Amino acid sequence: MRRTMVAGNWKMHGTRASVAELIDGLRGLVLPNDVDVAVFPPQLFIDRVIKGLQGAPISVGAQDAAVESGQGALTGEISSSQLVDAGCKLVLVGHSERRLILGEQDETLNRKFAAAQASGLTPVLCIGETLEQREAGQTLEVVERQLNAVIDEFGIDAFVNAVIAYEPVWAIGTGLTASPQQAQDVHAAIRAQLAQKNSEVAQGVRLLYGGSVKAANAVELFSMPDIDGGLIGGASLNADEFGAIIRAAGN
Ligand code: PEP
Repeated sequence: MRRTMVAGNWKMHGTRASVAELIDGLRGLVLPNDVDVAVFPPQLFIDRVIKGLQGAPISVGAQDAAVESGQGALTGEISSSQLVDAGCKLVLVGHSERRLILGEQDETLNRKFAAAQASGLTPVLCIGETLEQREAGQTLEVVERQLNAVIDEFGIDAFVNAVIAYEPVWAIGTGLTASPQQAQDVHAAIRAQLAQKNSEVAQGVRLLYGGSVKAANAVELFSMPDIDGGLIGGASLNADEFGAIIRAAGN
């Protein structure tokens, strides 16, 4: 039985003051105990968020990690082992903003994915199509290709300790949400692709939906059989809204 997960990606948002307020808000939430909750603050605030959330049932992850797991000469980067040392449990890999704005390619993302697992972090692999790709009928092909980039290099067992987030690029931060059926169709295709290699891994891996999830649309999305929770951007910056989304994922 897969545990539902709701994770908040704070992206490049926050000041010391607003982060302190958000931590207070998160600490005040009454959370269902059948949902795993995580937040991904900007690296700058990870330490204070981990300290601020001590004792709360909320994991902290990073939005990115270096291609190398250990320490070394790599100016500006933070390695997955340093994130583990700080208390992180998860890391996003391949968010569409990094793929499309920063030009991260599969080869780099695979190194980050492997470094994360080598350090004991759980990678959350983000995949999804652009609007042009959807309109050209290429959605499943794109998602399959992004997933195969990992499977071809590391094998299906790479997903024993990983989470997949399906995030259609056209739905991220746009207010447009995939309909529950559109999202379910892609999630089912992802699970079927994994099942071709190993059905046990496919049944165990959590598939999160991301793209303008709010309290108002969360229940319908999370009720779909292959949607195991959500990766939430904008709405995760408001503790009350985030709390309502988490409760929508509980039973
Ligand atoms: C995201 O960035 O992962 C995301 C899903 O953003 P939003 O919820 O704001 O669309």
